[in-house]
Parts: sequence; structure tokens; C-alpha cells
Amino acid sequence: MAVTENLRQIQKRVLQLAQGRPVTILAVSKGQSATVIRDAWAAGQKAFGESYLQEALEKQVQLHDLALEWHFIGPLQSNKTRAIAQHFHWVHGVTRLKIAGRLSEARQEAGLPPLNVCLQVNLSGESSKAGVAPEDAAALAAGVAGLPGLRLRGLMTLPEPTPDTALQRQRFAALRELQSALNERGYGLDTLSMGMSQDFASAIAEGSTIVRVGTAIFGERQKTS
Ligand SMILES: *Cc1c(COP(=O)(O)O)cnc(C)c1O
Repeated sequence: MAVTENLRQIQKRVLQLAQGRPVTILAVSKGQSATVIRDAWAAGQKAFGESYLQEALEKQVQLHDLALEWHFIGPLQSNKTRAIAQHFHWVHGVTRLKIAGRLSEARQEAGLPPLNVCLQVNLSGESSKAGVAPEDAAALAAGVAGLPGLRLRGLMTLPEPTPDTALQRQRFAALRELQSALNERGYGLDTLSMGMSQDFASAIAEGSTIVRVGTAIFGERQKTS
């Protein structure tokens, strides 16, 4: 199976690049079928990333017999926070305290342990890109860290695609430095969610702990929503 072979290659490459540091591969399965997720699971993959709630919930039903770890990596809309809080183990794209508060409340109401979250940081300063500005990250972290239904784990970024590896590394280094600055204030963040199919090597070189890899594992996506 192509997925199995792709996964082996990526696992090998991540292991080499990480040089003994633990780096988790999050298999981004948006636009992919439940069948290929099952294939990836059979090849040892446990963590899967989805961006669209409805699509993810349908696949979760089809895969309910497997103990998978689900990460929500898409944009957060307030009318979907309840379902997201109750059906995922991680949320990578927290950008606003109001949404974080809703996730926290829903998680507590469901009687589930705190939801792992990352703050999404916009490093390129483009207004079209979602994410908190680096200078506002400390205030958001302070708010999120105080929410009982959430566990603030770290930072996530989704930089604009570029083949320029120096620029890739510059962005990822900036996220690592922001994490260090927050940890000096005592947040104990252990997660840097950065790196995708095209740039995970640069991300790992700059300290990534979770790489979010879609097409390099599964090939082209079948659908986008
Ligand atoms: C789709 C997506 C990915 C995976 O992208 P690939 O280029 O297919 O590896 C990673 N992170 C986020 C937030 C995504 O939306």
C-alpha cells in the first residue's frame, strides 16, 4: 500500500532529523477516506489531524473501533466549539480567548479531562492568515492557562509556503523563541506544532515536536471540505 510505504519513509526521515529528540508525526487526514486512515493505523500511526468538523465526525464513527488520537487543526468557529471539545484530544488553532473559554466549558460539561491546546501564532503578519500576533501571545497564554477545561501545551504556526529553506527556518526559529520567552514566564510549554509535508525538515531543525504531514503520507486530497 502506498500509504504504508510513505509512512515508513517519513518515519525514517523524521527519526534521522530529530537526532534522538522525540518528534510526533501527526498524519493530516483531511480530504482522505476512513479506509486510508485505517491503513495508516495498521502501519503504526496513531495521531490524525482533521480540519473540518463534519468530515472528521463521520470518519470517527467509521473508525470507532480503533484507539486513535484526534487533533483538530482547522479554523475554530464558535458554533462548533462544543463538538470539537468533545470529539478531539487536541486543538492546535486557538487564536482567541473567547473561543478558548467555550472549548473549556464544553470540555468540563462533558466530564472529560482537560483538552490539549496550542495557540496559533501568525508570524508573517499577513492579515489574511489566522493566528495571534507574536506580541499578543503572552496575554492570550495568560488567559488560556487559567481555563480549567484546557491544558495549554504550546504553540502552532502555519507559515506561508516558501521553497526558501532559510526563510522557513527563520519562521520556525521565531516560534521556538516565542515558546522560550513564554516558558521564562513559567508556562511550561512542551509543544511546538510546526512543519508540514514541504517544510518539516526545517521545522525539526528548529525544534518542532509535532509535524503535521498530509500529502507526503496520503497523496493528494480527495476533497477539501
Ligand atoms: C492541511 C494541513 C496540513 C498538512 O499539509 P500537507 O501540505 O498536506 O502536509 C498541516 N497543517 C494544517 C493546519 C493543515 O491545514
